[in-house]
Amino acid sequence: MNLREVQAALLLLAISVGPTGADGRPGPGAKAGIEVFQQRYGLFVDGIAGRQTIAALKQAITAPKPGRPEPDKSAMAVPALSLYRLGGVAAPPPNVASLQLLATARAIDEIIWHCAATREGQNFTVADIRAWHKQRGFSDVGYHYIIYRDGRIMLGRPIGQQGAHCADAGKNRGTIGCCYIGGVAADGKTPKDTRTPAQRASMLWLTQQLMAQHRGIKRVTGHNDYTNAKACPSFKVGKDEIGRLM
Ligand SMILES: [Zn+2]
Repeated sequence: MNLREVQAALLLLAISVGPTGADGRPGPGAKAGIEVFQQRYGLFVDGIAGRQTIAALKQAITAPKPGRPEPDKSAMAVPALSLYRLGGVAAPPPNVASLQLLATARAIDEIIWHCAATREGQNFTVADIRAWHKQRGFSDVGYHYIIYRDGRIMLGRPIGQQGAHCADAGKNRGTIGCCYIGGVAADGKTPKDTRTPAQRASMLWLTQQLMAQHRGIKRVTGHNDYTNAKACPSFKVGKDEIGRLM
């Protein structure tokens, strides 16, 4: 993608690139537009259309494959209740108005839940997890969605890219990695289900939405279903409401 194509893609997404439009020339308008996109998609905000940003841009503007129609986003705030045997309706997250769950042609058959392994009562951001994962040599944050303690659902790695969250059983392929902030007691080491009520609701909502969006999903699991070495996500998904949606 050259700069003109990046600008054109931003315009397609209704993001301004300045008064001269898609002119292919670098400048404050183009940089600001890229920054708006990066902010909106949870990417590192530097105003530069690098590899990650271009991948996310392509994903954002790529039409879904024939036979896999893009879900009607206007209807997505209400879970497709008739599809599932649900005990109740999940409340949408507080940032539902700005949240975009992007479609992908990547084959998805499973959602795997994680915790950030952070102390209960403490807030952390996608940027924090991205920095930790980059320190471990990952190209980006390993999870696709991160649930804040206040229930906001944030975008991590673009959904079109394979995650880095469950290498233990070769489970990065074909899966969506989701993570909630918390998962460890105040001592910093004891695994603990620290989910706030807002997080529980948003995790249920997101699981429902992803299942409605990716019809190939056959399983909703937790990291600890694949490794005995980790307690993550500090509860058993199979015994939780999010594991009982199938
Ligand atoms: Zn995990």
